[in-house]
Amino acid sequence: MHELGIITSVLDSATQAAHEAGAERLLKVSLSIGEMTEAIEEALVFAFEAVVEQDPFTKGAQLELTMITPKSRCLECGCEFTHDRFHRLCPECGSFATELLAGRELQIDSIEVDLPDDEEPDDEEPASYGAQVAPDGEERAANEYAPDGEEASQVKEETSQYGEERV
Ligand SMILES: [Zn+2]
Repeated sequence: MHELGIITSVLDSATQAAHEAGAERLLKVSLSIGEMTEAIEEALVFAFEAVVEQDPFTKGAQLELTMITPKSRCLECGCEFTHDRFHRLCPECGSFATELLAGRELQIDSIEVDLPDDEEPDDEEPASYGAQVAPDGEERAANEYAPDGEEASQVKEETSQYGEERV
């Protein structure tokens, strides 16, 4: 499923950014996607809701989705026009020689996170991450976690592992 891959990578990036900001939870992701990516809006929303539920860090997060209508310029007559995914010929002169100006976007516009109230995130972070690890304690996850958080990929691994164990 195309949309699931998009949402998974978007949430990986958003979660990484949220962790780097010292957040406790990811609350919202604002996303712009061009229709030429062939991603379907309903499927994106469905995939987002399914994926965020798998991780306590993202559980309940909202998706603000902006679908961008494709726009092209005719190379013959210079006409600029919007169109759907399938019709790109010039409405003025009928030429197929057109250049896509917009519609392939795939970008995170912004994220909203829940920051801890505690003034000392350095003391707070390891404790809260520890609580996210499954009680039977996969040692690997505990050992790989870097308290100073310089390796975001390690944090990511830990959360995805937790997600798998819950299923
Ligand atoms: Zn034209």
